[in-house]
Amino acid sequence: MKQKKKSDVAVLLDYAGSHKRLTFLGLALSAVSMLLSMAPYICIWLVARDLIAVAPDWTRAKDIAQYGWLAFGFAVAGIVLYFAGLMCTHLAAFRTAANIRKQGVAHVMKAPLGFFDSNASGLIRGRLDAAAADTETLLAHNLADIVGTITLFVSMLVLMFVFDWRMGAACLLAAVISIIAMFSMMGGKNAKLMAEYQAAQDRMTKAGTEYVRGIPVVKIFQQTVYSFKAFQEAIEDYSSKAEHYQGDVCRVPQSINLTFTEGAFVFLVPAALFLAPGALAGGDFAGFITNFAFYAVFSAIISTALAKIMFAASGMMLASTALGRIDQVMCAPELKVPEHPQSPGSSRVEFEDVSFTYDGAQTSALSHVSFTAEPGQTVALVGPSGGGKTTAASLIPRFWDATSGVVKVGGVDVRQIDPHVLMDQIAFVFQNSRLFKASILENVRAARPNATREQVLSALKAAQCEDILEKLPQGMDTLIGSEGTYLSGGEQQRIALARAILKDAPIVVLDEATAFADPENEALIQKAFTELTRGRTVIMIAHRLSTVVGADKILVLEEGRIVEQGSHQELTASSGLYARMWADYNKAVQWKITSEQ
Ligand code: ADP
Repeated sequence: MKQKKKSDVAVLLDYAGSHKRLTFLGLALSAVSMLLSMAPYICIWLVARDLIAVAPDWTRAKDIAQYGWLAFGFAVAGIVLYFAGLMCTHLAAFRTAANIRKQGVAHVMKAPLGFFDSNASGLIRGRLDAAAADTETLLAHNLADIVGTITLFVSMLVLMFVFDWRMGAACLLAAVISIIAMFSMMGGKNAKLMAEYQAAQDRMTKAGTEYVRGIPVVKIFQQTVYSFKAFQEAIEDYSSKAEHYQGDVCRVPQSINLTFTEGAFVFLVPAALFLAPGALAGGDFAGFITNFAFYAVFSAIISTALAKIMFAASGMMLASTALGRIDQVMCAPELKVPEHPQSPGSSRVEFEDVSFTYDGAQTSALSHVSFTAEPGQTVALVGPSGGGKTTAASLIPRFWDATSGVVKVGGVDVRQIDPHVLMDQIAFVFQNSRLFKASILENVRAARPNATREQVLSALKAAQCEDILEKLPQGMDTLIGSEGTYLSGGEQQRIALARAILKDAPIVVLDEATAFADPENEALIQKAFTELTRGRTVIMIAHRLSTVVGADKILVLEEGRIVEQGSHQELTASSGLYARMWADYNKAVQWKITSEQ
């Protein structure tokens, strides 16, 4: 992928778009502010120089007040520019994060619907949102700090020559040692250890979330935290990796780093002691003391700058993992849109030698499936669980595209139909047809936004929802999910059916799961099905054989293949899988009737 070759910062700046310039301006301001913030130390040096020159007659040092004001002015200007710089980098960072979110959402909108089955929409949103926020620290703070610190080191090199290069070198040596120690913790084979340690931390967080989700199960079955093997292992793995990395790898370099960061004096004082006799003999002892005073005060800046580098390194890592997560969203497959779309000629549905394998799966979910549903016919898909029924149905509205073979609607390959036109042709009701947290009216009207209230009401009636409307305080204007208005699974399914009825599409793809339905609901759902399927081409995933008896064609799918097809009479007459399933079903019904007597 193109983006992988670029550095993380370059990728982020690409997302910043025209706000990239604001980032650069912010960085420049940060560099200038760093220079300004060093100026007061030079003023202090000037004060020390003048005082030492006139000692002990201090009254002769007339300019020191002026230096004081200058120092104050530089400090204030430095702070003002620093904040102005931060303002720029923050504006750019917020805009970059917003662009990441926008581009991510725009990309996800082009993904096939099946993508949302395996990637819950909340998860995608969370991933984008949190990752975008994680990039903010790098762009808003860390980059400015890095530029500021580089400026500091360059100016230190210059100052070394301006004052006393030997004492300057002593300060710089401390800084260099501390930087080497810092990077030794992160570079080479330690980089791998650190990555493992962070991955272990990630796994622990994920396992923790799973654990919290599973608490109800733990409570019901009276288990303890130890029954969550994955969580326990993740904690143990994390603690051993953390101990190894932080204890064995980081202890020595981090001690060196902190010692030299906080104590630039370690070299400065011996250097001064070493140089003092020479300075005394040379006659410029006053100048020597002044320079020493400068470095003694100045070394305080070094530790602040190095601490910022440390934070910058962690900001870089955070942004890098965030970009990885953003990439996962940006790599979501795109539904290919035809350049010259064709219109379907009828409501005929056809599978021609269709095979399909899910991404990453070893075996195909469908192999060489061919069948035709003529306009107005009902084709039922039956067979054992995992046989490929849902997959076959999902290929018609292009939740996924066939790996090989062709799915046709109205004689045209579905990939050659404009996705909007295709969606207009098909109404689908799957087991997980969700209702929005909106009124029933809006939920149903989602299928046809310009439908009138009357049309929505008649769709609700056709879907046998009158009893639901009657018991709700504001009828179809009642908000679902608010103020205790929760609908049972069967009721939700009927509302979803009303939505499909209102859509009035010539093709219906239907999962007749009545798993949630109580007997009363079940009868109503059956009636709603009849209303929905009348006069349309229907592809129905059937779980109970009683619903397929009247189908024009029954396809028996097992391990992704059609093992039998025909009408109910034809299939029961043969002694295949369907006949066995039918016999089992009858036995179960008989048993139910007998046990109820
Ligand atoms: P059915 O509807 O007949 O129960 P499915 O079409 O759901 O069967 O599944 C067919 C096969 O495809 C099964 O082996 C199932 O494990 C696999 N499968 C279904 N959905 C996915 C998915 N999103 N990713 C990977 N494999 C899947």
